[in-house]
Amino acid sequence: MFEHIVKTSSSDEMINITSLVRQDVQKSGITDGIAVVFVPHTTAGVTINENADPDVVYDLLGILRRAFPESGSYRHMEGNSHAHARATVVGSSCTVIIENGQLKLGTWQGIYFCEFDGPRTRKVYVKLIQG
Ligand code: ZN
Repeated sequence: MFEHIVKTSSSDEMINITSLVRQDVQKSGITDGIAVVFVPHTTAGVTINENADPDVVYDLLGILRRAFPESGSYRHMEGNSHAHARATVVGSSCTVIIENGQLKLGTWQGIYFCEFDGPRTRKVYVKLIQG
């Protein structure tokens, strides 16, 4: 398993981590199998989305802010229920097929670490399985 540290710099942001996962695949020598990317946090997540137009990420963060506003009639004492909600919608893992030593992502797809309660120092685990 590979472990990465991701330092986030704002309250919410999406960071393209595709190159980290690509490096792991190359290091592992696995040619065919699957890559599981997992985020061990309850106010951050991981998702796959467009890597070409940065406005897509900008809009996604805006949509999540409007859908799960920071203030509301929440009970959770830590005061970050909006971040928990955004993280649970985005999810804590994603799976990508590895074929011929490459991640089988679509041309416009990138893997994004999603921060919802930053800035913080976060972890990303990558597990690669030959098969
Ligand atoms: Zn909390």
